[in-house]
Amino acid sequence: MDRYLITGGAGFIGSNLVNAIVNKGNEVYIVDNLSTGKITNLANADKKKIHFYQHSITDHYFMKNILLEIKFDYIVLLAAVANVAESILNPYETHLINQEANINILEVIRKNKLRIKKLIFTSSAAVYGNTGIARKSENSIIDPVSPYAIDKYATERFVINYGKLYKIPVIVARFFNVYGPNQNPKSQYSGVISILVDCLRNNRKFNLYGNGQQTRDFIFVEDVIKAMCILLSSDKKAEVYNVATGESVPIISVIRLLEKATKKKLNIEIREERRGDINFSQADIGKIKRLGFSAKYTLEEGMTKYLNRREEL
Ligand code: NAD
Repeated sequence: MDRYLITGGAGFIGSNLVNAIVNKGNEVYIVDNLSTGKITNLANADKKKIHFYQHSITDHYFMKNILLEIKFDYIVLLAAVANVAESILNPYETHLINQEANINILEVIRKNKLRIKKLIFTSSAAVYGNTGIARKSENSIIDPVSPYAIDKYATERFVINYGKLYKIPVIVARFFNVYGPNQNPKSQYSGVISILVDCLRNNRKFNLYGNGQQTRDFIFVEDVIKAMCILLSSDKKAEVYNVATGESVPIISVIRLLEKATKKKLNIEIREERRGDINFSQADIGKIKRLGFSAKYTLEEGMTKYLNRREEL
């Protein structure tokens, strides 16, 4: 049995990861301030195996204490304001969460020479920006265009270089667009599929920013958890990995697929393109494939599974 610290563990991806880790017989400590996460996301996890702290990771004193008190084997840093628009409105406040709080955790590990088996920081495809490169590999040009993406990239570099300088076993995972159960439709940026499902379910208007031709590499959350488990157990260190399917789909096609699956017509309102939005996003997943990863779900299969879990529709 290993001990895990998962920040943001009550969120969409976090709660799915908590379930997977607990199901393997491990013990999980979750720090989450429930700003976008929900305690009900953890309803299915074995209560004896999880320890939940409703707390902000920006409380450096609290984070130091928990890190020193509990000897974690694995640390997964998921807590973030995962919202580009919010980071443009409040760049400093989001910076304190998306970057500084994570550096504090690295500092506690470094100063106290904490022995961990692996730390994973979750970054985003947003770091690639709008460079016009069709398929983004980990070595592609980086051009973060929002405070969210800048903080993700800067934190990546801190994580990788703390790993190299202080011999801490770290990995960075760059998630592309993840969808699936427990996704909060209030997250305006990465959760477009959950927003679409929500609009269809409640006959609400969907704001389509731009012409719908912007593409995304959508990955079902179960595949993301599979990738995380591979990265946690691999012996690779101080490396960056794209986590995606390698396929990309225009938003308008996603809308048509969902309309077909739900037999409902979406009420679309066309709006101007948003600042900081990326036009084309598709991953080269060659690097993580070499560790044995491949996505199991096509977009249609993943969406069907997601819709079946949302019986209200
Ligand atoms: P989410 O909003 O569901 O999860 C983030 C969690 O962090 C929430 O539970 C929230 O309450 C918590 N949190 C926020 N601020 C906090 C703070 N100050 N202290 C403690 N907890 C805090 O979003 P998600 O989609 O599950 O994203 C998880 C991670 O993956 C984030 O780091 C995000 O940037 C990254 N990511 C997600 C996607 C995606 O498509 N969902 C894509 C790229 C990267």
